[in-house]
This record gives sequence, C-alpha cells and structure tokens, in this order.
Amino acid sequence: MALVNTKKMLEKAFINKYAIGAFNVNNLETVQAVMRAAKKNNSHVILQISQGTIKYAGIKYLINIVNESIKETDLDIALHLDHGFDFEIIKSTIENGFSSIMFDGSSLSYQDNIRLTKKFCAMAHEKNITIEAELGKLAGIEDEIKVSNKDASYTDPEQALDFIKKTGIDSLAVSIGTSHGAYKFKGEAKLDFDRLNLISNMLEDSGIKNFPIVLHGASSIDKNYVNLCNKFGGKLSNASGVPEEILKKASRLSICKINIDTDLRIAMTSSIRKSFFENPENIDPRNYLSEARDSLENVVNYKIKNILGSKGSCSVNNVN
Ligand SMILES: [Zn+2]
Repeated sequence: MALVNTKKMLEKAFINKYAIGAFNVNNLETVQAVMRAAKKNNSHVILQISQGTIKYAGIKYLINIVNESIKETDLDIALHLDHGFDFEIIKSTIENGFSSIMFDGSSLSYQDNIRLTKKFCAMAHEKNITIEAELGKLAGIEDEIKVSNKDASYTDPEQALDFIKKTGIDSLAVSIGTSHGAYKFKGEAKLDFDRLNLISNMLEDSGIKNFPIVLHGASSIDKNYVNLCNKFGGKLSNASGVPEEILKKASRLSICKINIDTDLRIAMTSSIRKSFFENPENIDPRNYLSEARDSLENVVNYKIKNILGSKGSCSVNNVN
C-alpha cells in the first residue's frame, strides 16, 4: 500500500456511487486522526495540504509525517495540494512526492485559466500526478482564498465541458452553491443539482465517461461542536454548513471528492477549549492535543461511515 494518485480511487467512487473525503491536515495530530479513522473503515482518503500549511509546517516535515502514517496503516491514500496557485509551491509539491495537485486558476480569466491549467497538467502528468482544477467561484474564506458573495459565480456547464477537453485535467471542482468557511448559507441550504447533472450528462454525451466532480466548501458545521466551542468561550454565532442529506445525495451523483476542512477545525478547537476550561492546572500539550486528535478522529470516522459511503473502498476493485 502506498501513496497513490486519485485516478483509480475517484473512478471507483464514481462507479460505486460514493465519495472520497479530502480532509485538510496541518500537523502530526491531524494526519494521525484522519489516518486512524481511514484505517478503522478500510477507506481511501485524500490528505489535503494547503499552501498556507506548507508555509506553516514546511513541506518536508509534512511529507515525512504522511509517509510514516502510510507505513503504519497500510492504506492506499493520496496526498493532495489544495488550492495551489503559487508556481514555486506547486513545483515543490511535484518535486517532493505529492500524488495529486489542484491548480486553482478560478480567479483568472477563462483563457488564462485554460492556459495555466494545461501547463500544470503537463508537468503533473509527466510524474503520474493527478490534477484538479476549478471553474466558477465559491464565496467565503479559506486560508489564502477570499471571495465576496458578489464576486462568487456558479460553474457554466458549456464552459466546463470545453475546459475539460482543452486542459486534460483529471477532476473538476465546481461551484454549485457551497462556500468556504463556517458561514455557508443565510437562508435555506441548497445545491444546484440540475447544474451538476447537466455538466455530467454533457460530459457523458461527448464521450468523457465517469469524470469525477469535486465539491469544495462541504463541511456540515455540526451544531453540537459549534455549541461546545461557544460554551467554552468561542464565538461562532450563526455558523451554518451543508446538511448531511445534501452531501449524501451529491456522493451518489458525480461528486467523487468532498473537501472537508472547517468541520475539522471546529472539532479540534472546541475540544481544546473544553480541555483548557476543565483542566486549568494542566500545562502538558500532549493532554489536550490527544483529546483534540480523538475528537477529530471521531468526526472523520462519522463522515466516512455515514455521509461519504467510502467505508471499505480500499478493498473495492471493480472499476468496470
Ligand atoms: Zn476549496
């Protein structure tokens, strides 16, 4: 078992109507938590690392932690760069053994997005690395990405087909109603499934079969964790996410990769807040970090089993 690209795991997910969780990790504890939950469920996972995390922890530290976790768990998993747009960072992930990258040219003009995505595609494919790109703009804030509601736009199906044909990407992140961060919906939470189906049908009709679509900004923002966080001094008023039923429906359609970051942040933060409050005499970081790691593992375990449907995916072989 090893670090693998996302090609096969997303294809299996498409055919068998589930989704692979792409969980953002930042350090030893987050990697261990996600991998322990994946092991428990014998599930593929994608460990995602953002540019901000590479600046925070250093790429070599991150790669080594991930490699150790693969040896320990004996699972096929992917290591993916989330929202890459800095040329040097993308280059360093390709050189340092990431198995998948996202080039995010969604803030560029359509023509520039095509041109640069194509260029990174060639660089990645040469090393058997899969590449995800994005069309349309999600609102919200995540790490270095900031898009206001007025600048957000949904993915155009005609453009999606043209973009996939011209660039040769392996998966496409679409904007169909989700947003980054902890404040996703003001009114009723809904996704534009008609648009998603239109994109997939157009792809199928033009001979592009089983093409995996990626959903960003897909945390559910569990009220229990929000309340826990607020109970111990947090300030997350009106936080709202994507309801689980909507994510389950998306997983059964062409959404094969679901990105989850905010839910992990809230679980970890609420656990640490609680621990600080309940154990004011404690000064050993291992105590509150192991509690936080356990709570993160529980969240990932729940998602794999009850929402994504990827439990057992490491042993699923039928791709036809
Ligand atoms: Zn994203």
